[in-house]
Order: sequence, then C-alpha cells, then structure tokens
Amino acid sequence: MITVEHLTKCYGDFMAVDDLSFEIEEGHVYGFLGPNGAGKSTTMNIMTGCLSATKGHVRIAGYDIFEEPDKAKKEIGYLPEQPPLYMNETPEEYLRFVGEAKGLHGAELERQIQEVIEQTKIENVKGRCISALSKGYKQRVGIAQALIGNPKVIILDEPTVGLDPLQIIEIRDLIKQLGQTHTVILSSHILSEVQTICEKILIISKGKLIAFDRPENLEKKLLTPNEIFITAEATSQEVQEILENITHISEYAVESEEQGRTTVQIKTDQEDIYGVSRELFFTFAEKNKALLEMTLKKGNLEDVFIELTEKSQTEETSVESEAETA
Ligand code: ADP
Ligand code: MG
Repeated sequence: MITVEHLTKCYGDFMAVDDLSFEIEEGHVYGFLGPNGAGKSTTMNIMTGCLSATKGHVRIAGYDIFEEPDKAKKEIGYLPEQPPLYMNETPEEYLRFVGEAKGLHGAELERQIQEVIEQTKIENVKGRCISALSKGYKQRVGIAQALIGNPKVIILDEPTVGLDPLQIIEIRDLIKQLGQTHTVILSSHILSEVQTICEKILIISKGKLIAFDRPENLEKKLLTPNEIFITAEATSQEVQEILENITHISEYAVESEEQGRTTVQIKTDQEDIYGVSRELFFTFAEKNKALLEMTLKKGNLEDVFIELTEKSQTEETSVESEAETA
C-alpha cells in the first residue's frame, strides 16, 4: 500500500529523517512510536505530500508522491499535528469546503459529508461554530476531514495529544473502528497508546527506524531478561551457595545483607519466570531457609522502548515524557 525507500530529510545540515525504509500493508493499524523530535511529523508530512524530501521515495498505492502527487494524495487522508480547522465555520461547512477541495460535488459530496459525520459521531455539533467545540470534538472534525474523499489510508499525527482522559479513550475507540475499514497510521510518543491500538509498531529515534514489528514480537525479541528479587532469612554466603545450584539463573547480585536477611536481584533468560520462582521457593525450603519476600519483574515493552530510544539518543536531545494519561 505504501512503500518508503531511503527517505531522508535535512533541515540545513540537521538530518531529521535518516534513511528510513519500510512498507505499510493494506488493512492494518500502524503506530509510529518515538520520543519528541524523533522525526515522526516530518516523515508523515513527506508521506502525505505536504513536505519535500531531501532524498528517497514514497509510493502510495503505486503512485510516487513527488511525481504523481494528485493521484497519490487521493489515497490518503491526513490529520496533521496542527489540524487546519477554520474556526469561524461549522463542521458541516468546513467538511463541504474540504470535500470540494478534494474534487467532490453534488449528491456525492452531501452523501460523504453525512457519512463521515456519522462515522466520527459529530452529528449533534455539526451546526455549531468550530471555535466553540471542545478539543475532543475539534479532533473528531479533524478526523472527519481526513475521511472525506474515502481515502484508503488515514494518517493521524499524535491524534490524542492535549485531550483529557475520557476524550483520549473515545478517540482511540474511533481509531480502532476506522482500522476495520482503512489502513491507519498514527504517531504517538506514548508507548501504551500504540500498544493498545496498533497491530504493528515502528519505533523511530533520531530519524532512524530502530524496530518494526508486532507488539508481542517486539516484547519477545527485545525484552530485557526477567528479574526476580528475593529476600531470604540467610547470610549472603548461604544464599549464594543455594543460587549456584539453581538452573536458568543467568546472573545475580546481592543488594543488601542485614540482620541475617539477604536481598538478591536475580536475572533469568527463562521465559517461564514462574518455573524459576518455584524452583527458588522449594530449594530455599529444602535448605531450611525462609524466603521472606519474592517479587517478579517481567520485562515489558515500556523498558524496551526506553532502552532503545535512550541508546540511540545523544545528550543534546532529551526524552520529554509527558504525563501518561488513561
Ligand atoms: P516528532 O514529530 O517526532 O516530534 P519532528 O518531525 O517534528 O519530530 O522533528 C524532527 C526534528 O526535526 C526535530 O529535532 C525538530 O526540531 C526538527 N525540525 C522539524 N521541523 C523543522 C524545521 N522546519 N526546521 C528545522 N528543524 C526542524
Ligand atoms: Mg510530531
């Protein structure tokens, strides 16, 4: 559906997008995930024909976005980071304007306006001035405008930024629904968001694609080892002797030893973390040493995301982590 090849964008001598290549297949929901400044908006602006590239190709349904922009753009609906809403119009007037700009008219235009109003559930505000709408409704109008013209691909740049938790849930539900009939690409700097909505995740950092997979595969492939923290009623010497005889422990480190209690961090590459914790439990019991505490910390995608983006992040840019809502 969309092919991006060696896409590069320089602002002066700053490389915002660095040799990106990937393929978007029809009928899935994709997530562009990356910290602020990663190059998500730049990439989306190029893919939608709003910005030129320094190098590389983008093909939408076979049409080159630079060589046949009109044909390529017909296949995409775009909600930019700052949606170009006309505040003095009503949603209905605005959608009519956008539809006409996309070449629709007459009965077909009216039919499509009604259809996207229903799809985005803005029926009850369609006659109000856009400036008077809540941020959540404005965002719906922005999505409605992307849907006019019935494009196959919908590209949404940070569609939930600035919304309150309830609005976020509603917009996420709307995106999931759109995913049943469209190919959807959305960007976000919030991992849990792409994890819940998207079937495939592209992690972008410093303009580079550093991972592209299904969420569950990313977890499997990139996961940090599982960790088990135990506190045993034993000296660190005794604990270490016991641990030496337990299989599947890749490493351990004594964290503290006081008043006859020792706390140890244990790492295991075993997927079945409960198997390892069971073995710990029975081995300590056999040696007549009480396990006072045991905490399991399973690796998760949040850690992977932070690790990946931190690794490729240098000191000049910092991960702006906005408070995570919902
Ligand atoms: P994201 O959407 O992932 O937050 P952007 O694509 O907006 O990232 O920006 C990527 C990088 O390019 C950032 O470092 C940003 O400061 C820089 N950048 C974006 N637009 C411009 C511009 N018009 N001129 C110069 N630098 C820009
Ligand atoms: Mg952006």
